[in-house]
Formats: sequence, structure tokens, C-alpha cells
Amino acid sequence: MTTLEIVNLTGSKTAVPTKELDILGNKLRGTLIRAEDENYDEARQLWNGMFDKHPAVIVRCAGVADVMDGVRFASDRNLLVAVRGGAHNVAGLASYDDGFVIDLSQMRAVHVDPQARTARVEGGAQLGDIDRETQAFGLVIPTGVVSETGIGGLTLNGGVGWLRRKWGMTCDNLLSVELVTVEGKLLKASKTQNEDLFWALCGGGGNFGIVTSFEFELHPLGPEVMFCFVMYPDSKDILQKFRKYACSEPDEVAMLSFTGTVPEDENFPREWWHKPFFVVAACYAGAADKGELVLQPLRELGTSIVDFSDHMLFTDVQKFLDADYPKGRNYYWKSLYLREFSDATIDTILGLNRKAPSHHSTIDIWTMGGAMSRVGTDESPLSPREAPFMIGIEANWDNPQENEPNIAWVRECVDELAQFAAPGIYLNFPGFLEKADELIQEAYGENLKRLAEVKQKYDPENFFRLNQNIKPGS
Ligand SMILES: Cc1cc2nc3c(=O)[nH]c(=O)nc-3n(C[C@H](O)[C@H](O)[C@H](O)COP(=O)(O)OP(=O)(O)OC[C@H]3O[C@@H](n4cnc5c(N)ncnc54)[C@H](O)[C@@H]3O)c2cc1C
Repeated sequence: MTTLEIVNLTGSKTAVPTKELDILGNKLRGTLIRAEDENYDEARQLWNGMFDKHPAVIVRCAGVADVMDGVRFASDRNLLVAVRGGAHNVAGLASYDDGFVIDLSQMRAVHVDPQARTARVEGGAQLGDIDRETQAFGLVIPTGVVSETGIGGLTLNGGVGWLRRKWGMTCDNLLSVELVTVEGKLLKASKTQNEDLFWALCGGGGNFGIVTSFEFELHPLGPEVMFCFVMYPDSKDILQKFRKYACSEPDEVAMLSFTGTVPEDENFPREWWHKPFFVVAACYAGAADKGELVLQPLRELGTSIVDFSDHMLFTDVQKFLDADYPKGRNYYWKSLYLREFSDATIDTILGLNRKAPSHHSTIDIWTMGGAMSRVGTDESPLSPREAPFMIGIEANWDNPQENEPNIAWVRECVDELAQFAAPGIYLNFPGFLEKADELIQEAYGENLKRLAEVKQKYDPENFFRLNQNIKPGS
């Protein structure tokens, strides 16, 4: 009898008869992919080039029935399961060596109900799939800022993008989910059905099962919006003016500004190549004409290097940053919330930016608040949300020989900026989940106990553990 060695829940390996895998494969509407299959290399690739994992089996699902069978197969044999959506998790959680991967990447359907202003989105959809379908009706879901990111991981851990201050985090716009439990059963959760589970899914990650579809509330926007993207020199004066604007920006404005190094690219004046910059980027969640007026001061903070601001299709805004994040580059990202954006914070950020080993790296400043901050504890485990700013530190580099200095730079940034930090941590930018238990405690604070109780109820053996893991607890 031929067998395949697959990692199990104890960390050792179980010899699974290939005959049993064949039976599973024959049942699927999707495909079962193993190392000998032609598309194995394509199917196993993750977005972060830091990870080159070789799973034993990839169950590429075509629908709910495939997910249910995949989960039952693994749980009957105590196999450790990785869940793959858009494969954008920076810590590479969507796969593991000799593992059993349940892959939702082909489950990308989006059904919009324009009258009810709701959309049902399959668990493996990418943000661009959603924008394409919802914008056909002049509607939006607030998601993230890169169109290839998976909706699954993004929503389950929060989701921040250009519309966050007007309509909240992605998870705040959830109406219901359908989820395959550890028993391989389909459950629905909403504010009126399995309410404890629904609350936990609004920020508690992939801990409770595999979400096969999300139902979201939609909002009217577009097709055109005003998008601001102005590159300035990295001057303290400009960051101070940016801060002044941020402190009184209306809910319609969300900024994601960043420091970096001007690339060697003909879109930028040659005399600025390799010099440090500060980009002010913002989107106005409302009429484009009004947005142009409201965002105008951001275009006049000083003498710009370039100004790409314009009325744009919302679908183009959502793709504006895509080219900066190619699949296969190396990435290491961490974040922290800020309680203050003082002059000392500005000096620290500007100094750290100049030390970045890679010219692709950035320090991002997200303005928080607005609708995001008006969410109660009973609505989401990601609360309270009091910090006015979030800093994302992104090391992005090509040469694998340079892993060490790039990772060290991010850690140095976190250490230096910690003096200005507010409590909490955003688990969609969690490094490689080093000191995971501390991170989880920091992220959820007092809500962790309630999350652990929900985990105990729906996944007492911690079957779904390859994630930002919450341990079951009564
Ligand atoms: C280029 C880039 C841009 C980003 N921009 C933003 C941004 O603007 N805003 C923001 O908030 N975050 C952003 N992120 C972070 C992103 O939200 C996380 O990396 C997230 O994990 C990606 O989700 P995914 O489905 O692609 O993840 P995957 O790597 O496919 O999955 C990671 C984990 O998510 C869970 N998971 C995924 N799908 C499901 C599902 N259907 N059911 C149950 N569990 C599931 C599982 O635990 C899995 O281990 C960005 C990431 C990248 C790489």
C-alpha cells in the first residue's frame, strides 16, 4: 500500500494511504493536487517570497461541499490543516511543509443584490473581484488598498482601507457568514444566529472554521472619486502640516501616507532618485468634486516632487498601489498603534526611514478614527479603537541575501517607536507572529477571554491553529 506522510496535530506525521486521497480527489468538484501534478508549483506558491513551502496535499475547492469533505478528511485523521484564501498572509500561514492545505483560491464568486445593498462573497475572493462586481452598481465594500489581497484573511482580522473612516473596518460591514466547522458542517452566523460565533468572526481571525462566504452591507460610491497622491521631500515641516490636517479631517477622508526612497523610475524627476520622500495619499469617500476641494490642502503642504492626484475610477484607486507589491518579493511587516504623533514621533520616523536597507521599504502612517472608532465591544473583538494613528513598517526587498538587515530594520523601528505606542496591535501586519501568545493578548486585551470561550465551543481541540491563534479556554 502506498502512503503519503502528512503532518498531524501532534506535529509528527501520519502515513495516509494514497488510495484514500484518490477517493477524496474523485469526490471533489475542484482538484486534489500533489507534488507529482503539473500545477503543483503554481498551486503551492505564496505571495511572500520569504516562504517556499511544499505541502503534501492541496485540496483546491470549487464549492462548499469540497470544503466540507476536505475538513472531514483531515479531522478524521487528525491532520493539521492550513487554509488558503488570497495567500497574502505576510507570515505565510496559508501553507506548510508536508501539510494538508484547504485552498479556497478558486472560490471567488461575488453576488450583488443592488436593491438590498448587500453582497455575498465567496471565501477565496480577492478585493479586486469585489470592486469589479459592486462598482457595476455604484456600490462598495470598505476593504484594503491592494486589489489582489484575499477577502478571507483581511476581513477575519479586521480590514482597513481607503473607506475605513467613513464606513469602518471590513469586519464592521459583515452581515452574516457561512462557515464550515471542525465537524465538516455548514453553519450560518449573524447578529441573530449563532451570535457568539458571529461576534468572534468580526476580528477573531480564522480560528473558528473555514468561511465559505461572507455577506456584506454595501454603500453607494463612485464610479469616480477624488484620490490624492502627492510626493514631497521628507521634511519635518510637511509632516507637521499633514498632522494638522489629519487632526481635523472629516470621516470621508482616510489617509495612508508613507515615507520611502524615490525609485529610479522615469515617472519621477531624476534629480530626486534615491532621495527620501514623504507621500501624502488620501481618498475621499463621497462626490469627486467635493473631494477635490476637501483634499486640496494636502496638495499644498509644500513644493511637491510629483503630484498624481486626480479624479479616478474607484476601481483604479483600489489598484493604485498593486505594482509596488509584486508576488515573490520578500516582505516583513509589523505595525503599532500610536497614542501621539508628536514632533519627536516625526523625527523618529524620518530618521528610521533614512536607515532602511531597501529602497522598496516604507513606513506607513494610517489615520484611524471616524466610523472605525464608533464600534462597541459587543460588536467586535477589535475594540476599543481609540488610537488616532497606526504605523505600518514594511520591509520589502528582492535579494534573499539581505533578509537579515531588512528584518532587523523593522524590529528596530518597532523598538524605537514603542515609546509613542498606544495599546493593541493589528494582526493583519503581525511580522512572522514571533511571540504569538503575547501578540494575541496585546491585540485583543480584555476581549481575549470571550474569544477563548467561543473557540472552546466551536473548536475545542484547536484544529484550526495555523492562524493568529486563540487557544480554547472556558
Ligand atoms: C500586498 C498586501 C496588501 C495588504 N493590504 C492590506 C490592507 O490594505 N488592509 C488590511 O487590513 N490588510 C492588508 N494586508 C494584510 C492582509 O489583510 C493579510 O495578509 C491577510 O491575511 C490576507 O488574507 P488572505 O486571505 O490573502 O490570506 P491567506 O494567506 O490566504 O490566509 C491567511 C490566513 O487567513 C485565514 N483565512 C483566509 N481565508 C479564510 C477563510 N475563508 N476562512 C477562514 N480562514 C481564512 C486563515 O487563518 C489563513 O491561515 C495586505 C497584505 C498584503 C500582502
